[in-house]
Amino acid sequence: MALASVVTQTKLKPTEPLSAEENYCDNCKLCSKVFLGDYMITEEYEDEIEGIKYKSAQKAHPMRRSYVCTGSTGYNEGNWSTWSSARFSIPRNDEELIEIFQKKAVPAQSERNQNHKIEG
Ligand code: SF4
Repeated sequence: MALASVVTQTKLKPTEPLSAEENYCDNCKLCSKVFLGDYMITEEYEDEIEGIKYKSAQKAHPMRRSYVCTGSTGYNEGNWSTWSSARFSIPRNDEELIEIFQKKAVPAQSERNQNHKIEG
């Protein structure tokens, strides 16, 4: 069993962020290259949490992340794959993302579950 998230109304106290000088990200963009589904795109955006500004990669359509993070697919025509044995390519066109849910994602997850004897 894996604990993936917790929903709470508790006001959590954030820890201190790294200072800008200690920032370990050197913008090599390897994370964008290995994230299947073209979810992270090269443009950056600036945001703010508790008055602290930060930069992050701009994100594409959220279904691009969903298909990969849920294990619906673990491969997308490239050099990288994930733990998921389910395989289908994520279309480049966002208009096709909903359509492949029934046609590819559900069958791929069913096959993965059968292969690994996962119920439910
Ligand atoms: S761009 Fe991505 S992979 Fe490269 S250092 Fe920053 S977080 Fe790490």
